[in-house]
Amino acid sequence: FYLTVTGGKSFNTIINNLRELKNTDINFKINIRNNFHPKTDIDNFIKFLQKEFSGDLRFNVYFRPVGQWGGENDENLEVCKGKEANKIMLEADMKAVKQGLPIVTLNEFLQPLGSICYAAKPHSLVIGADGTLYKCTVALESDFNKIGKINKNGDLDIDYDKYALWILNEAEEDDVCQKCFFRPSCHGSACPLVRIESGTRPCPKEKESIKEVLKILWEQHKKFPGKAAEPMTVGNMD
Ligand code: SF4
Repeated sequence: FYLTVTGGKSFNTIINNLRELKNTDINFKINIRNNFHPKTDIDNFIKFLQKEFSGDLRFNVYFRPVGQWGGENDENLEVCKGKEANKIMLEADMKAVKQGLPIVTLNEFLQPLGSICYAAKPHSLVIGADGTLYKCTVALESDFNKIGKINKNGDLDIDYDKYALWILNEAEEDDVCQKCFFRPSCHGSACPLVRIESGTRPCPKEKESIKEVLKILWEQHKKFPGKAAEPMTVGNMD
């Protein structure tokens, strides 16, 4: 939940809007993303979510660590990183499922093409306020991510060398990707930024923790048999 532009708090407004939606019979799916840091009381927050949304499969939850995504305040942020963050995240997912809150995004990540980042998709572009075209929504300061401009008449001027960096990954030549059990979901493109910047394979955390992921999905299947499995979106939601 974000602060408003004027610094006001948005938590109650968002929760009240979700409650209003819950009281309708509209057919929708909402994924409630919950960001955590080392001091977040996740157990308590799951209890709150359970009280509000459990039993209504239109609401799904998922958990992600607060990250240092750039800016002056980065160094002051306390964040959970790497394996520790992944462990907390998967534990939170399991607790949520046990409290009757579906984690549909995990199903989506395991679908064919489900772990490919939008930045790796040919038709996905970000248009900046000044008309600059980007592929990635994170590396906004990086020159290789500024791939062109949109003109006033709507035409796109694209630097195809930069564009190719994002959509032509090296999974076709990567021996490890070619033998990987996770390739149908990832195609070596879970995060093209990682490959571009470091030349390393951007294996998604769902692959690294596949046993825990499958345990959560099994628990979810037992809790909501056949009901919580329909994918809502296809694509990496990191
Ligand atoms: S999970 Fe890793 S090794 Fe497997 S296809 Fe994706 S990037 Fe390649």
